[in-house]
Amino acid sequence: DSPSEKFEYQAEVSRLMDLIVNSLYSNKEVFLRELISNASDALDKLRFLGVTEPELLKDAVDLDIRIQTDKDNGIITITDSGIGMTRQELVDCLGTIAQSGTAKFLKALKDSKDAGADSNLIGQFGVGFYSAFLVSERVEVSTKSPKSDKQYVWVGEANSSTYTIREETDPAKQLPRGTRLTLYLKRDDKGYAHPERVEKLVKNYSQFVSFPIYTWQEKGFTKEVEVDEDPSEAKKEGEDETAEKKKKTKKVVEKYWDWELTNETQPIWLRSPKEVSKEDYNEFYKKTFNEYLEPLASSHFTTEGEVEFRSVLFVPSVSGMGKDDMINPKTKNIRLYVKRVFISDDFDGELFPRYLSFIKGVVDSNDLPLNVSREILQESRIVRIMRKRLVRKAFEMIQGIALSENRDDYEKFWENFGKHLKLGCIEDRENHKRIAPLLRFFSSQSENEMISLDEYVENMKPDQNDIYYIASDSVTSARNTPFLEKLLEKDLEVLFLVDPIDEVAVQNLKAFKEKNFVDISKEDLDLGDKNEDKEKEIKQEFGQTCDWIKKRLGDKVASVQISSRLSSSPCVLVSGKFGWSANMERLMKAQTV
Ligand code: ADP
Ligand code: MG
Repeated sequence: DSPSEKFEYQAEVSRLMDLIVNSLYSNKEVFLRELISNASDALDKLRFLGVTEPELLKDAVDLDIRIQTDKDNGIITITDSGIGMTRQELVDCLGTIAQSGTAKFLKALKDSKDAGADSNLIGQFGVGFYSAFLVSERVEVSTKSPKSDKQYVWVGEANSSTYTIREETDPAKQLPRGTRLTLYLKRDDKGYAHPERVEKLVKNYSQFVSFPIYTWQEKGFTKEVEVDEDPSEAKKEGEDETAEKKKKTKKVVEKYWDWELTNETQPIWLRSPKEVSKEDYNEFYKKTFNEYLEPLASSHFTTEGEVEFRSVLFVPSVSGMGKDDMINPKTKNIRLYVKRVFISDDFDGELFPRYLSFIKGVVDSNDLPLNVSREILQESRIVRIMRKRLVRKAFEMIQGIALSENRDDYEKFWENFGKHLKLGCIEDRENHKRIAPLLRFFSSQSENEMISLDEYVENMKPDQNDIYYIASDSVTSARNTPFLEKLLEKDLEVLFLVDPIDEVAVQNLKAFKEKNFVDISKEDLDLGDKNEDKEKEIKQEFGQTCDWIKKRLGDKVASVQISSRLSSSPCVLVSGKFGWSANMERLMKAQTV
């Protein structure tokens, strides 16, 4: 070997390495994602430069990433055929902090006066190349740039403030182009060198890197081999000769090692929607979210302009969420990628409001930094715009189910996620216009099949201005309430709100298509048929009766009044105009018990 030259890291690099190793010890596996992302960047750069300088691509090697493991010795090698580094680039890139992500990280570190913030901060930034030292005792980077005819080896060790660079002279180790990282794992981290472990990490974090990632895997095939027959059984007395000639065979598994493609190279969302079949989407959905049922609907779109991102969204066909999940969703339903590198699926309302947290899908943005964190997501203007568009698309998708010829689909949707939309009425005023048409209720004229508010409005009488509802605990008890009598007589349709959340949802909506929701159990119900003279007359006639009843009932009622609302029942208990409805009162009682 040629002699090694020794270098000292820039002071900040040493500090960064200390920080990484000390703060990320519980999340070591990110090292593979970071190194694959560097390999992918190097391939991207080569591909980009190759457009104008085709001679860079002259060594006709495929653009790919290969990861080999040696589990007995605890070694992982990651080889890419990308842009590589010259000797000077090795010094600049791996010995100093000149690069984007890491530079930003250190700057933020300097800006933060609070020393305790270090470990929080580090989660916000891609830690890049140095994450290799999370698991490695020693890292070798052997690299050849197409701009240089020599290959160089950079060697660094954990807990050292120096590294070395030498020329690679071993003919057996020459690369046509690109970079090979060799990680000599720490004693306790040698488990990462198991082929299945690497495969799993690649599938999880880098499944949709746009270059093929191969891992070195043990494979086997079955073949039949002839076996010698046991001589003691070979020939029994009286058996004829042909039996002896019959040869026995046995199945054995032949083992061998080979490269296996471990990622999908063309993620579905990068393809044109025209080229992707429904089956492809369903397959992708099932694979990505470990589902066995097909989704109810999907939506694949690209947005351009102010913020660019691509996304495929799905409405699941079953909820899979418990009651508490709706209030406090921990779903892992949205997978965020930045430039095809998986970033996170751990969101809490950043990309979708929580009432829409049942929506599953992937979002891939080119406008976010690769090392985007929850904190960045919460404050980012880009994310706010993305969220708006995602929500709009989600509603279009749900609307699509509602409009589909297959009524069963929307019934299924409503059964699973109706509650979520009602929660949306309470939490998302801004989207009332989108939510309201999706709501479904039973009614006095449709006790078995739910209707939409549009259907209700269409069925309104010409002089009817309000949408009438009664909240109750079942269709049967709603139908039997005396409040209904007068409206049934007048053939006015009344919505039956039988889900406890219905009433609150409707009260939040206030109106639909400029028709107010009106609770028919409230005392001031006006059906537009007042006859003042007649009322006066009746009041005089029965005024004393009312006073007498009020006296007898005392504090149990607020007042006793004459009403024209009933047609066959003699009396009814109503709620005050500003009080809770009887249904709400029951609910509130149930809550406080
Ligand atoms: P970042 O990727 O954010 O720039 P890293 O610490 O991950 O920061 O990498 C530092 C730099 O080292 C990269 O910008 C790149 O120039 C160089 N580098 C790292 N890995 C490779 C590789 N496999 N091939 C070519 N260059 C690389
Ligand atoms: Mg990087």
